[in-house]
Amino acid sequence: MRKAGIFLSIWLGLSVTLITGCSDNGKDEVQEVNLYSARIESLIKPLLDEFTEETGIKVNLVTGNADELLQRLQNEGRNTPADMLLTTDAGRLHRAMEVDLVEPVESEILQERIPSSYRHPEGYWFGLSLRARPIMYVKDRVDPAELSTYEALVDPRWKNRICVRSSSNIYNQSMVASMIVANGEAATEEWAKGLVANFARSPQGGDRDQISAAAAGQCDIVIANTYYLAGMLTSNDPSEREAAEKLAIFWPNQDGRGVHINVSGAAIIKDAKHRDNAIKLLEFLTSDTAQHWYAEANGEFPVRADIEKGELLEQWGEFRADPLDMDKLGEYNADALRLMDRAGWQ
Ligand code: FE
Repeated sequence: MRKAGIFLSIWLGLSVTLITGCSDNGKDEVQEVNLYSARIESLIKPLLDEFTEETGIKVNLVTGNADELLQRLQNEGRNTPADMLLTTDAGRLHRAMEVDLVEPVESEILQERIPSSYRHPEGYWFGLSLRARPIMYVKDRVDPAELSTYEALVDPRWKNRICVRSSSNIYNQSMVASMIVANGEAATEEWAKGLVANFARSPQGGDRDQISAAAAGQCDIVIANTYYLAGMLTSNDPSEREAAEKLAIFWPNQDGRGVHINVSGAAIIKDAKHRDNAIKLLEFLTSDTAQHWYAEANGEFPVRADIEKGELLEQWGEFRADPLDMDKLGEYNADALRLMDRAGWQ
């Protein structure tokens, strides 16, 4: 009895010391992770809340334009509170790696779930959702039998009929980078010149604006990311739905390399203070729940092949995606930008 009493008091004493030690540290009690996100809050917050509920880890979210966040990370240097960077383009993830802001992660879960072409070979960044950039056409004025490849959009039949946003946009830069890899720089420059010659107007606005312009009769062909069309088709605004319904998707290059694909993805910041929590968040974003959400709420394609795409995306049918390593989009970004500039793509 006495022996047990001694053990109990030693044990109690130890526990008190441990607990006191813990609260002295203070911060250890709150599990958190600091996320810099180029995704707008409404497109990521519900997922982060779910993560917090599952793990108890609080997510402090800073949203902003991708280039501004990259600049901020560079300015903050080693003092940055950021643990993880989320962007909507592989080109930007590559840029973050080039300027030494991020560091590799080894995770069996991520390696198993994410196909190798959608993540950096050494684990510097991971794709979380796929974004397809096909051709869209106005159903009333274009017979899809006239369409085949991105390359064929330079045909004179499309003169004054194509709308696409400016070359300052990274989605176009990544698309051109994929063409440099496929066709070489000289041929891609010729192509860009031909495409510019077929523009219906000088580039202005975002992808949604191209879709609206086509619906309003300013052009017949658009190159845009599919989730913009999905967003308009499911919009509360009847005029957006009406505009989007005038267009259909054409999956180009199906007999060749396939449609141009990009990823939204994330990377872990160098010397992150909550590295383990950040990895947990990264893994959570590849979970069934998160992957379904990307398809249902964002109109993006899951990065995992085993996840159902949802009704709308399913309607657009199966397509062959360019199997190019996403890292190449970043590698050829500067070349793409210079080439578009020389071709007069504003
Ligand atoms: Fe976008």
